[in-house]
Amino acid sequence: MEYALVNGEIIGRSEAKIDVEDRGYQFGDGVYEVIRVYNGKLFTAGDHLKRLVKSADSIGISLPYTIQQLTEMIEELLSKNNLETGNIYMQVTRGVAPRNHVFPAGNVPPTLVAYTIRAVRPLDNLKIGVKTILTEDIRWLRCDIKSLNLLANLMAKQKASERGCFEAIQHRGQDVTEGSSSNIFIVKDGTVITHESNNLILKGITKDVILDLCGKNNIPVIERTFTVAELDEAEEVFLSSTTAEVTPIIEINGTKVNEGVPGPITKKLQNLFEKEIEKQCGVLVR
Ligand code: PLP
Repeated sequence: MEYALVNGEIIGRSEAKIDVEDRGYQFGDGVYEVIRVYNGKLFTAGDHLKRLVKSADSIGISLPYTIQQLTEMIEELLSKNNLETGNIYMQVTRGVAPRNHVFPAGNVPPTLVAYTIRAVRPLDNLKIGVKTILTEDIRWLRCDIKSLNLLANLMAKQKASERGCFEAIQHRGQDVTEGSSSNIFIVKDGTVITHESNNLILKGITKDVILDLCGKNNIPVIERTFTVAELDEAEEVFLSSTTAEVTPIIEINGTKVNEGVPGPITKKLQNLFEKEIEKQCGVLVR
């Protein structure tokens, strides 16, 4: 039997129910997180939970749990579900209230839901790399909030999928922002470049781990906006996310990157990233 966490209680997943007037269901009025689990242990969970609280705060939802309480609840959930390798999905909405665009008055409690997903590491993508397309970024101007409103991201990802690609790299005019569900990095003259963390992208937890690993291992790195032209000319390109880790990009709009194979800096960062996982979660089975 699988379990889910609903408003602080762990119940059978099939018993979990959402009211038709939950604001997350009706408006996407809420925020979410995905936390990776390796060897039955949470990876970078503190950073994800801090971002969840920050995203909630920025839309005026106050979580009735501390980060410590949230950690204990999801640890219990993953242990009850015997999750070895996979993800915890968590979302918080503004709660249940009669449908109205205006936020409900009074003390409407937020709805917190979490459940687990079994998912092995994407070993083929990590080794071979993935194909991508380029697409205009049509999202709003608060992409720093990990909002449930993902329609534009879904449309971009669907477009990529229909062209046999894994990811859509989004750009606003000439500036590359991020993937539909990942951060994008290029390597130019041996320097790793990725969009600065502002309102136009999600400040990825994986991105931050990568920046930290670059700093500690003398890999030149800079956070700045880069253009589509720089992307086209890059020596290496890769993407990062909680579920995709450090994934090489070997093709953009049908044109090969680095002759279609993962580059040396990408491979070095993949290695360092695996070591970081092992530091927090124990030895990985390959
Ligand atoms: N950017 C977007 C739009 C995302 O949806 C995600 C993850 O889902 C990321 C970046 C990567 O963030 P993280 O490394 O925290 O998973």
